[in-house]
Amino acid sequence: MNAADALHKLAPGWTMERCVLKYSGMSIEAPGGPKKVNLRRPDIMTAVQAQVLSHYRSDMVERIRANGHILSAGDLTVKLAKEFGFCYGVERAIDLAYAACKAYPDRRIFLLGEIIHNPEVNDQLRRMGIVTIAGKPKDEEINQLTPEDLVIIPAFGTEVATRRKLEEKGCLFVDTTCGDVMSVWKRVRQYSKDAVTSIIHGKAWHEETMATSSQARSSGSGHYLVVFTLAETDYVCNYILHGGSKEEFLQKFKGGYSEGFDPDHHLKAIGVANQTTMLRGETEDVQRRLKAAMVQKYGEAEIHHHFRFFDTICGATQDRQDALQKLLLQPLDLLLVVGGYNSSNTSHLAEMGEAKLPTYFIKNAAKMESVKLIRHYNQHIHQEVETLDWLPQRKLTVGITAGASCPNNLIEDTIRRLFELRGISVQQLLAA
Ligand code: SF4
Repeated sequence: MNAADALHKLAPGWTMERCVLKYSGMSIEAPGGPKKVNLRRPDIMTAVQAQVLSHYRSDMVERIRANGHILSAGDLTVKLAKEFGFCYGVERAIDLAYAACKAYPDRRIFLLGEIIHNPEVNDQLRRMGIVTIAGKPKDEEINQLTPEDLVIIPAFGTEVATRRKLEEKGCLFVDTTCGDVMSVWKRVRQYSKDAVTSIIHGKAWHEETMATSSQARSSGSGHYLVVFTLAETDYVCNYILHGGSKEEFLQKFKGGYSEGFDPDHHLKAIGVANQTTMLRGETEDVQRRLKAAMVQKYGEAEIHHHFRFFDTICGATQDRQDALQKLLLQPLDLLLVVGGYNSSNTSHLAEMGEAKLPTYFIKNAAKMESVKLIRHYNQHIHQEVETLDWLPQRKLTVGITAGASCPNNLIEDTIRRLFELRGISVQQLLAA
């Protein structure tokens, strides 16, 4: 039975065109009524879980986890962080995308941009027949859609305007937006409702931050400003305290504020929120500095009228950062960080490593070309670079971690390649 038949059976009179399919715990939600079609059918879920495991699981990684996160062979020791790889939000998004393929084999399925920031996972979805369209689709892309098409919204959500356009088109949604992202949206919407400008600590060009900032405008009246660095935060603090050139301000933050935003009017009451995957310490610094400026300007007694803060770093990001911090306290010769180069949480793990020891941010094992050459991402210049003689030929301890969007099979590949480069075969490894 296809979805249209299922809907007809459960809700006679409703057509697919009238419905927005909203996956929430893998169910379809129809507007105007609480009736839900549960897609957690055993046949779908069993097949989805088996397929997801076959694509992304690693027995070796599980074994290392069970053995205290350490693997030694020859004169090489690998230490894995206690928390790394896929988070609950990413697992859910992937399950939903796979379930969409299983449940709707005859429909065209489109994905807005990337499901998560990992090239291997996105390639896999394309191989399964899911067609990628832009995260912010152009009119031509939207025009090709029909009410019978399924559109997958990625884990970091989509902008309000994009969603509205797709709703107008009558498309069916598989919404994989992570609950932690939606909590930030809720906070930002509340700020707007209370005429408080959202200061979003994040990357203005990142899909999640674009989606979050669009929520500040969803009622039509709110404002937002995105700050990325502490230097930008200090600039805003200075403007709050001493004013300055409005033109210079608007030029500096171009692309990172709401239409009609005026720093002379819209920085009198501010609320800080953050992209869920930022560096915890930095986000705390952003809010501390902004609060101090507002206290200095308006006084401690009045601060609640002018400043709000809600920590919206997600638990998975925090756990991975905490685990890496602990790993970095151990003696390590170098650190490998595995994940997509456009993954925000992964880039912060690399940043933490760089501050302490030689760190190589790689998207897959193939980047370790030889003991002589590794190609790795330099996030400060936004490009892959080469480092020579990166793997010293002596007794070595290598730390490994991976971002929330990196599957375990890629971590296994990395471990295998590392040992291979030291002349240790897979058989020796499995016997270790
Ligand atoms: S990193 Fe955090 S916000 Fe992003 S999908 Fe994972 S749990 Fe959700």
